[in-house]
Amino acid sequence: MGKKALITGITGQDGSYLAELLLSKGYEVHGLIRRASTFNTSRIDHLYQDPHNTDARMFLHYGDLSDAARLVTLMGEIDPDEVYNLAAQSHVRVSFDEPEHTGDTTGLGTVRLLEAVRRAGVKCRFYQASTSELFGATPPPQNEDTPFYPRSPYGAAKIYSYWITKNYREAYDMFAVNGILFNHESPRRGETFVTRKITRAVAAIAAGKQEHLYMGNLDAVRDWGYAAEYVEGMWRMLQVDEPEDFVLATGRPSTVREFLETAFEHAGLDWEKHVRFDERYLRPTEVDALIGDPSKAEQKLGWKATVHAPELARIMVDADRTALECAGSPWIDTVKQEIWAPGHAA
Ligand code: NDP
Ligand code: GDP
Repeated sequence: MGKKALITGITGQDGSYLAELLLSKGYEVHGLIRRASTFNTSRIDHLYQDPHNTDARMFLHYGDLSDAARLVTLMGEIDPDEVYNLAAQSHVRVSFDEPEHTGDTTGLGTVRLLEAVRRAGVKCRFYQASTSELFGATPPPQNEDTPFYPRSPYGAAKIYSYWITKNYREAYDMFAVNGILFNHESPRRGETFVTRKITRAVAAIAAGKQEHLYMGNLDAVRDWGYAAEYVEGMWRMLQVDEPEDFVLATGRPSTVREFLETAFEHAGLDWEKHVRFDERYLRPTEVDALIGDPSKAEQKLGWKATVHAPELARIMVDADRTALECAGSPWIDTVKQEIWAPGHAA
């Protein structure tokens, strides 16, 4: 019998890559999904298996990190070997608009899930999606020993999750670990994160469907890696003998401006002709520079990022151009975001 995993946030960018990885390793994969008035499973539709099929190895369950009783019930029913807590309100800018909701989901959601593990009496390994946003204002390079200084309600909520995961490890002898992941992107990245916002706009501008892209702070420095590689690191963190926290990063810095230049150039465009400033995209407090030091993961997990920001920008531009050519008009969302949603936090 293969192992069983429960993934919260399976409909998100990382959840979809992790589900693919675990299925390829022979796992039975269970995912938590939220009920929505429209379908929200587009990132995992290609993995869907008819549950009437006796060979099915992927199952979806309605639930929400705000619903503790449901989490206990599900945990008992599924009895997973591994739990990956990827669910969160994950957007930094949005967390300034919805700080309480972010605290409830991104912070308290984690303790509800940890308690569900305990109350259901499940013996499993637990992965918490921690983030480089914990480092916030602490200058780079950042590693597992760098002091935290979060700069947003998102960062503050994630720091609670970081410590409660560590506390459950120490208090209850649970195999519970934090993956402190630096920004990681892909063609499946949420459309309002800066990389995807840029690559979707490049596709729309190259197709003559959009003229301008409105942006905030172009000087921010990030360490962007490829999400498909990072989920392998998450899995490896649960396969070692002792529970420990790990940073995953490329170690290579880029500014938002550099990412813009590469993405536009790849489509034969001059970014300066199209990009305009809009102060709505600034944050009340900014994280100026995140550059990770992934040497512990390299040494102990044998994990190393191979895709860096310029290649990532090209992969994402190509994917968004293809999507636009093939699927009709995904560009409309980018346009909507700029024109019809004043104050929209992208
Ligand atoms: P996404 O925003 O793409 O996905 C978030 C997932 O969480 C979605 O499946 C979403 O469901 C689900 N979710 C949100 N709120 C709830 C809730 N209350 N109950 C249940 N599920 C909920 O994030 P990513 O895949 O990019 O990131 C995965 C995790 O890693 C997140 O926790 C994020 O904060 C963290 N992280 C991400 C980094 C990155 O660069 N991508 C860097 C470091 C950490 P729905 O589809 O219904 O909205
Ligand atoms: P974050 O690192 O988790 O906040 O990921 P984002 O992709 O949302 O933002 C990365 C950086 O890009 C931050 O420093 C933002 O301030 C900066 N940025 C500049 N313009 C924009 C924009 O229009 N949208 C977003 N999301 N970020 C922007």
